[in-house]
Amino acid sequence: MADKWNNYKSSLRLVNPANKKKLDIIVVGTGLAGASSASALGELGYNVKVFCFQDSPRRAHSVAAQGGINAAKNYKNDGDSVYRLFFDMIKGGDFRAREANVYRAAEVSNYVIDHFAALGVPFARDYGGMLDTRSFGGVQVSRTFYAKGQTGQQCLLGTYSSLSRQIAKGTVTMYERRDMLDLVVVDGKARGIITRNLLTGELERHSAHAVVLATGGYGTVFYLSTLALGSNASAAWAAHKKGALFANPSFIQIHPTSIPVLNDYQSKLTLMSESLRNDGRVWVPKEKDEKRHPNQIPEAERDYYLERRYPAFGNLVPRDVASRAAKERCDAGYGVGDTGLSVYLDFKDAIEKQGKKAIEDKYGNLFEMYFKITGINPYEEPMRIYPAGHYTMGGLWVDYNLMTTIPGLFSVGESNFSDHGANRLGASSLMQCSGDGYFILPYTIGDYLADEIKTPRVKTDIPEFEKAEKEANERIEKLMSVNGRQTVTSFHKRLGKILWDHCGMVRSAEGLKKGIQMIDDLEDEFWKEVKVSGTANDYNQELEKAFRVADFFEVGRLMCQDALDRNESCGAHFREEYQTEQGEAKRNDKEFAHVSAYEYNGSKKEEILHKEPLVFENVELKERSYK
Ligand SMILES: Cc1cc2nc3c(=O)[nH]c(=O)nc-3n(C[C@H](O)[C@H](O)[C@H](O)COP(=O)(O)OP(=O)(O)OC[C@H]3O[C@@H](n4cnc5c(N)ncnc54)[C@H](O)[C@@H]3O)c2cc1C
Repeated sequence: MADKWNNYKSSLRLVNPANKKKLDIIVVGTGLAGASSASALGELGYNVKVFCFQDSPRRAHSVAAQGGINAAKNYKNDGDSVYRLFFDMIKGGDFRAREANVYRAAEVSNYVIDHFAALGVPFARDYGGMLDTRSFGGVQVSRTFYAKGQTGQQCLLGTYSSLSRQIAKGTVTMYERRDMLDLVVVDGKARGIITRNLLTGELERHSAHAVVLATGGYGTVFYLSTLALGSNASAAWAAHKKGALFANPSFIQIHPTSIPVLNDYQSKLTLMSESLRNDGRVWVPKEKDEKRHPNQIPEAERDYYLERRYPAFGNLVPRDVASRAAKERCDAGYGVGDTGLSVYLDFKDAIEKQGKKAIEDKYGNLFEMYFKITGINPYEEPMRIYPAGHYTMGGLWVDYNLMTTIPGLFSVGESNFSDHGANRLGASSLMQCSGDGYFILPYTIGDYLADEIKTPRVKTDIPEFEKAEKEANERIEKLMSVNGRQTVTSFHKRLGKILWDHCGMVRSAEGLKKGIQMIDDLEDEFWKEVKVSGTANDYNQELEKAFRVADFFEVGRLMCQDALDRNESCGAHFREEYQTEQGEAKRNDKEFAHVSAYEYNGSKKEEILHKEPLVFENVELKERSYK
């Protein structure tokens, strides 16, 4: 396993520089995965076209990442290594990821940090000037590099600078404000995309020798989530409908530390980074229905339930474990706040020990954000937090080359399913996105393109492009012509609630079956009652939302199908029928040590399940314990 990537890399075929110029690659997405891919491929000499729906690549959702990015540098000399990072990820993902892919992600993590440092990303440094690190959940070493609580923003700015360099050199052409509506497949190979110009409404055809999707995660399926409002599943879903298998759709991470739902009008939930659990202590009152102000509740009357239940990892247990523990306490009546659906995250001890300045240096912008949203000063009283939909481990199925089941269609970053199994560890997504884009895809895509050097530039006036554009137009007309009485957002909200209740933190066979029925009914209602205001040939955010919500019905249905099929609990997928006596996830390795990859089978139909067995030769499958 340790040599696999290096050996494999040396065996991959190459494309010579003169031929690279003749090959076109489309990259959809400019987050860390897309921008790193596009700039690395541009640097290699390919002719790259890159797309995003925002007004600037810098606004891709990666900008929101807060806490940090992992690498196995062992700068703290605390026993870290590539193997340990690999092991933590495999274990953290509850043994539902491929060993070789995870090991490779851990291996390239060290190049990623060096590369970002070279690009000028202002990571925090310690007193001696070395890059500083901190701890994240599910691990006992300190391997997370960070830039205050703005790591994603700083890494994205670094990546954007390398992308801009390629744009200026002419190797990369940037198309902002474009929504990918469909994938064009010619003779079984991915050959292009149909986009909608979001400012004019015009449909456009773009062709290439290969297409890379770096379109991020679909956590927004829950409506309320920590993601940017525009995050969506639609590009990946279009590929799925054209034949790309979709893997582990029900593996969705619920993050334990989000600002709780405060009222009915909230359109998003704001994350309070996991890094805060380095110093913040999570607790609830020992008495039910406690009404006293948290600062008036004495130490002896506080239940630091994570430290109590998981002494070895304490507040730094992985996210799935921390989320379920918070839910358990709230369901049992110990939750705080008006709704009883929140717990405290308290910095009193850390401020007493380290001083306010030290805490401000590490988390200042997060504290400020919390204060702006809630009006509560977390330097003076505990934050209130609750779990929220966050990250999708599921996504497009890819092989070791990061290629989907459609030849020539690749998927990188959060849009693929590859490295995190049933639960992602904190700070490992930025690492995977950048590793995929800078250090993996540039090798593997060449192996595919080596066979394409004789393929002339793909024309866009061929029947496949015409058909895809026509279908996109018909869908727009269908959405615009319903002319019902309910907003797109109202449907999204209702869908999100169904999924949160039936396919959220805790699932059951009965609830999932009910969920599927409710989604089908809601989808029928959508196509009779939705009102998409404005016109199609203009800037129209209602139409953009309508596309996404229409796809989310199908995504949500598949999530439920997958969760129902997986008769076990693992990582973030917790089926209440399958738990240990202590209430922890109970895996069934005999029957479910596989990736579930689904084939689209038509609207409202059960999808066809393909199973990829997971073979573990380097780790022993054990019950995950953080005690
Ligand atoms: C609040 C928050 C904090 C986080 N903090 C951390 C952290 O500290 N560390 C960590 O490792 N991870 C963190 N994560 C996770 C991490 O930020 C994401 O997993 C990662 O940034 C995803 O990057 P990406 O490049 O795959 O996708 P994104 O950054 O989501 O980019 C998607 C791109 O695809 C484009 N796109 C999408 N759909 C279409 C379409 N239909 N047409 C055209 N373009 C499209 C978008 O325009 C965008 O450019 C956090 C996540 C959240 C929500």
